[in-house]
Amino acid sequence: HQISSSYDLSFKILLIGDSAVGKSSLLLSFISNSAEELAPTIGVDFKIKHLTVGGKRLKLTIWDTAGQERFRTLTSSYYRGAQGIILVYDVTRRESFTNLSEVWSKEVELYSTNQDCVKVLVGNKVDKDSERAVSREEGSALAKELGCLFFECSAKTKENVESCFEELALKIMEVP
Ligand code: GDP
Repeated sequence: HQISSSYDLSFKILLIGDSAVGKSSLLLSFISNSAEELAPTIGVDFKIKHLTVGGKRLKLTIWDTAGQERFRTLTSSYYRGAQGIILVYDVTRRESFTNLSEVWSKEVELYSTNQDCVKVLVGNKVDKDSERAVSREEGSALAKELGCLFFECSAKTKENVESCFEELALKIMEVP
């Protein structure tokens, strides 16, 4: 049980994107080196990570879809109150990339009521570089189009995973 004085700010962050792009793996990779809380819920799953960024103690509540994204749609309640959204694709699966621009970003527009919500585009599985189907340049261009920060990560090697969450948190803190 968390007492309120143990952190300065609390943010709700969502992971979205096609099934099997590595959302759960990114979340586990990020929280795995600390003993953190695990909260089972109905239909969705979230994990809590405490970290200090820019001199502030943060509590991040990071929501994973628990498989519901298979139906290519999440409920509006999943999006409610989110300060940050991480849109994930698999750099080796082109369809997961096109679905971000054609499906997921539209759903975000529809359901994310928070105008100041900070978005991050993540190309995951960069460790499988020989199987790459989406270039870094294409990722970067989509991020620009959608108004997102952009990272290429690997949940497997942990490359860029921490910086992705930290940069997102920093950006949320800049929101007036
Ligand atoms: P989710 O459905 O989006 O939550 O995806 P999962 O986290 O369940 O990952 C789907 C599959 O991709 C699993 O077999 C993971 O082990 C694998 N995977 C996830 N991230 C990476 C990564 O960065 N590199 C590699 N090589 N495999 C990954």
